[in-house]
Formats: sequence, C-alpha cells, structure tokens
Amino acid sequence: MENIKKILVANRGEIAIRIFRACTELNIPTVGIYSTEDSGSFHRYKADESYLVGEGKKPIDAYLDIEGIIALAKDSGANAVHPGYGFLAENVDFARRLEEEGILFIGPTSKHLDMFGDKVKAREQAIKAEIPVIPGSDGPVTTVEEIAKFGESVSYPIIIKASLGGGGRGMRIVNSPDEVMEAYERARSEAKSAFGSDEVYVEKYINKPKHIEVQILGDTHGNVIHLYERDCSIQRRHQKVVEIAPSISLEEGLREQICDAAVKIMKKVGYINAGTVEFLVSDGRFYFIEVNPRIQVEHTITEMVTGIDIVHAQIHIADGQNLHKSEASIPSQDKIPLFGYAIQSRVTTEDPLNDFMPDTGKLMVYRSGGGFGVRLDAGNGFQGAVITPYYDSLLVKVSTWGMTFREAAAKMDRNLQEFRIRGIKTNIPFLENVVKHNNFLTGNYNTGFIDSTPELFL
Ligand code: ADP
Repeated sequence: MENIKKILVANRGEIAIRIFRACTELNIPTVGIYSTEDSGSFHRYKADESYLVGEGKKPIDAYLDIEGIIALAKDSGANAVHPGYGFLAENVDFARRLEEEGILFIGPTSKHLDMFGDKVKAREQAIKAEIPVIPGSDGPVTTVEEIAKFGESVSYPIIIKASLGGGGRGMRIVNSPDEVMEAYERARSEAKSAFGSDEVYVEKYINKPKHIEVQILGDTHGNVIHLYERDCSIQRRHQKVVEIAPSISLEEGLREQICDAAVKIMKKVGYINAGTVEFLVSDGRFYFIEVNPRIQVEHTITEMVTGIDIVHAQIHIADGQNLHKSEASIPSQDKIPLFGYAIQSRVTTEDPLNDFMPDTGKLMVYRSGGGFGVRLDAGNGFQGAVITPYYDSLLVKVSTWGMTFREAAAKMDRNLQEFRIRGIKTNIPFLENVVKHNNFLTGNYNTGFIDSTPELFL
C-alpha cells in the first residue's frame, strides 16, 4: 500500500468480518469497534484490536457515533475507515469529517454520497447522462393534486417514493386516484420517521419488472469499469432475498446496453470506488432507479463469477492506485472474466411461518454446509452465539457457484439442507422452497414472485 497503514472498520457482523479478512490478506492491520450489546459478537475478535464505541448510547447509535469513531481511528493510528454497508456507509457528514481529519474513506467522495443518497438528485444525474429513467415527477411532489395529475398523465398504478429512501421502505403503490391522499400521507410519515425527511416523489409503477443491477468500480485515475450484472428480483417487501449473477433471462443485447448505461452515468459523474447502478427491466426495456454508493450485501456473487475481490479493489482504489496497474491488477474491461453462475441466499433469523418475525436467543446448535463452490459469510454463526434483537437479522450469506445455473441452484439447495440450526428459527425452509421452484429455475419470475407464490410458505 502507498498510503493506507491501518484500517478501522466502522461496522459489525458479517460485513465487518469480510473486510477484516480482505485487510489481513493485503497485510494491513485492522481495528474493530463494537457496541456494549455486541461485546460477545464475533466480529470483535476478528480484528487485530477492537474497542468499545458509543457507551451509554442506544445499540444502533453506537455504530453511528461519528466523533467517537473518528477519535478511535486517531487513537489507534488507523488512517483509513471502511464503513461496510448500512450505518454510516452513505453518511455525507461522516465522509466529510473524515476528509477534514485527513483519514481516508474507503468509499466514494462526500459529493457522490450526497448526489446518490437522494433519489431525486440521482434521477437528475441519470437524465443528464442520457440513460433511460422511469416516467416520474420533475423533482419532489408536495400536494395531492400534483400526484393525482401525474397519475392521470401516465395512468395508474404509480408509486410514491421517499427521496432519501432505502431498504425498501418509504414506498407506496397507488392504484387509483382515490388512493392518492392516504398513500401520500403514509409515505410521508414513514419517510419522516425512517429517514428524517418527508420529501417524496412519484414514478410510474412498472408492472412485474425484474430488478437488474450492475457492479461498478471507479478509480482516481479516471477508469470506470463494470463487473456485469446481478438479478435481484427475488424480493420480499421490496427487499432482496435471493440474488443471482449473471442474470439467466436477459437477452444478450440488453445486458450490454444495461452495463453500458451503468458505466455511462458513473463515468459522467466521475465516480470513485465501488458502487451499484440499479435498473428495472420490463418488456425488453430497462429503466434506471438508483445508485447505491457502497459495497452491497450481494457483492459475493459477482466475486464468484468474475474472480475479482471487490473489497480488495475498494482498498486499492482508496489507496490511490490505478485499477489496472500494480497491486490492484484488474484486467481491462474486455478481459474481465465471466465464468459460470452464482446464487446468494440471505439466511436470516426470521420465522417464515410467522410473517418473518425476527427470532432471538441462543444458537444451541449451528452447523453449516460446505463443499466445492460454496462460500459462507457469517456474522455470529456459531454454536452458543446469542442473537439479540438490536440489529438486522442476517445470520449468514450462503453463496454457491456452478458452471450452469442449475448446478449453482442444486448446490444451494443441498447446502441449505445441510444446515443444522437449533434454538433459533431461520428462513431456511423458505429459501429451500425458492431455489427448488420451477419458476426460479427457469428464470420465469419478477419482483412479484414471492408475493404471488403461496407454496413457498409451506
Ligand atoms: P430502496 O433504495 O429502498 O432499495 P429502490 O428504489 O432500489 O428502493 O427500489 C427497491 C425495489 O422496489 C425495486 O427493486 C422494485 O422491486 C421496487 N420498485 C421501486 N421503484 C419501482 C417502480 N417505479 N415500479 C415498480 N417497482 C418499483
């Protein structure tokens, strides 16, 4: 490394461990942080040194303690911070404060976080880059009349979305003019409580689309490349459950157009580090929805099909290196491999038979699958671990690879069957039903798959 000496990971769970592992492989010492509630969490022990943060604060707020985290970075001699996903990963103030302190942020610039943290601003960038967007309002909407007028002009259904939304929250589908008022109020209040702003905008609701997203890497030397697409259409309440790379149902021409569009917008804004451009695809057409300016949960499957370690790349980029030279040595765009298929399942501590209610307590038994073509990214995945109610319910990400999609799916099914987890309920039976389903195996699905397939819940 030229500049990075030591990395603090401002996160917890599986993503913190994923990043520590990458740092160790690159011979970079690591600093971890943990909340009081996470005193026994595995990520704490995976760092070379780790420190309690946010004492006396609420469990979530500990990992949002900007000044506490900066002080720990300085005290421990960490000159770079990786934010993972969630928590401070897209926090403009955090990135700015680190910039002020001369600590490297392993992610995009605060300018890009600002641009893409707001879906209305992101949409403006997409329009400027001349890539297709969903018919929508010109900026935020503030009255019921405005929304009703829009609904009339594009025809219902439409969708009201929080400008600062994320995680599938702050969205309301509106099927007819008489639903506008209530949906608007609900979307606003949900947006206000979840994101601190009640600003919303409207888009045409695309009927039964696929969610296709493109992994991007940009460096400080002007290189912007894509690592192909992921299909994240298997969603529940607009949140991803199972992801696939590459998509099994995009015509070849369309894939190229989508990947080109993703590179186009990111080049236009001079994007730096890892990011994802998300699209909806319907009837052979694609539409930009948003950019996620961070590493994503589902990055694992892109790594499996391209062989490129995205976290290594993030660190090299933040260190100021050229993507295609020296240590980073990522092949040029036309030589990026795409080999086989990968699937990721998000195993959560949720009960599929009880509306996915999170379960908590002690893992009495924990045995995972394994074997050729299997990758496990776990947080507290061990016997005796205590699952608390304070953080998200992701237990382990199971990713499988196969030369064909069927092979990757068969490995996923076999792996999910091999898991033995007792003491806590998980969504594994549900995931097994998904990856065995004929419509899943044939690519005959869209974002409505889970909602419209009751047999998945048996
Ligand atoms: P978030 O940032 O909360 O993840 P996104 O804008 O990425 O929100 O949308 C998440 C999901 O919501 C999409 O994958 C899709 O299933 C659904 N969605 C969002 N916008 C639309 C739309 N205009 N039409 C149909 N579905 C949509």
